[in-house]
Amino acid sequence: MRLHPRTRVARESIFPKMSQLAARLQAVNLGQGFPSNPPPAFLLEAVRKALGRYDQYAPPAGLPLLREALAEEFGVEPENVVVTSGATEAIHVLLQSLVGPGDEVVVLEPFFDVYLPDAFLAGAEARLVRLELGEKGFRLDLFALEKAITPRTRLLLVNAPMNPTGLVFREEELRALATLAQRYDLFLVSDEVYDELYFGQRPRRLREFAPERTFTVGSAGKRLEATGYRVGWIVGPKEFMPVLAGMRQWTSFSAPSPLQAGVAEALRMARKEGFYEALREGYRRRRDLLLSGLRSMGLKAYEPEGTYFLMAELPGWDAFGLVEAARVALIPASAFYREDPPPYLFRFAFCKSEEELSLALERLARVVNSPA
Ligand SMILES: *Cc1c(COP(=O)(O)O)cnc(C)c1O
Repeated sequence: MRLHPRTRVARESIFPKMSQLAARLQAVNLGQGFPSNPPPAFLLEAVRKALGRYDQYAPPAGLPLLREALAEEFGVEPENVVVTSGATEAIHVLLQSLVGPGDEVVVLEPFFDVYLPDAFLAGAEARLVRLELGEKGFRLDLFALEKAITPRTRLLLVNAPMNPTGLVFREEELRALATLAQRYDLFLVSDEVYDELYFGQRPRRLREFAPERTFTVGSAGKRLEATGYRVGWIVGPKEFMPVLAGMRQWTSFSAPSPLQAGVAEALRMARKEGFYEALREGYRRRRDLLLSGLRSMGLKAYEPEGTYFLMAELPGWDAFGLVEAARVALIPASAFYREDPPPYLFRFAFCKSEEELSLALERLARVVNSPA
């Protein structure tokens, strides 16, 4: 008896592996991107209130309460919104719905790890466009992107603020992406799970430039520091949304009802209480702490414009040697590249306490100039 070959995507990912190793070695875990902070009290309270009131199936498109809260935020109608079990399911359902065998999906590299298995499971081929890495950091070459488009391309999948690079697209870049999609008649999927986590001006959304073809993906887990709640969403053109809701009947059917209700209320509270401003302020402090600490060791660290990740180089080290020697867990760039990752490049997650970040810096300083 043999499982189907498509299960090759089930290979263990480095993220949980690094977390287990970190726990065993009592390492500071700057690998997997889950916050050390507890979620805001207003979210916990809203979820508690929902238990006992929202205990049965929600409609596959989502609880009306949550679709309305999201519609209000995005300036659309509830019919433009479908709720999912985290952004992970949103991306899965979108790829199943938009592409199939013979189609190509253009993906920027480095990429978030779910995109390639999801494209593969849909039977489509991922065409990678690698960001340029220069002295100032990562940059999208729009000319290279256009060259990657073929007659078989159906979808352009982007992510900003971008995991793992922290890149945010400027308005001209968003406009150019929309123009390309219109010229070649492509769908756009814009993974914006870090939409509230930026350090400069509030970024515009890709959908503003091509609302007729853009699906925006979001996550309550990332916004509200509760990655275990598994509530995400898709905002897109009304005509396609009933089909997306229909497709997700066959994955998880609906996201957990009490968590949807809790998130609906918490999204409103977050705006009212200035939660996102405080969140950004806290992350800006931690980003600066990590960035200046790494740079003061003479390391090359690239400043992120958003997300709670940054990329930096540790010449001579690999992730497994480093976690043993320094007791600091990081994710190697190879997790975000299909092949030939830039050497000695690592992703640091700074959604951790300032104590953890300081301890990690101290430990790194001890080993950094004496490679294993
Ligand atoms: C975390 C993450 C996701 C998945 O979000 P969930 O809501 O936890 O499923 C999707 N895209 C990116 C870029 C992420 O970092």
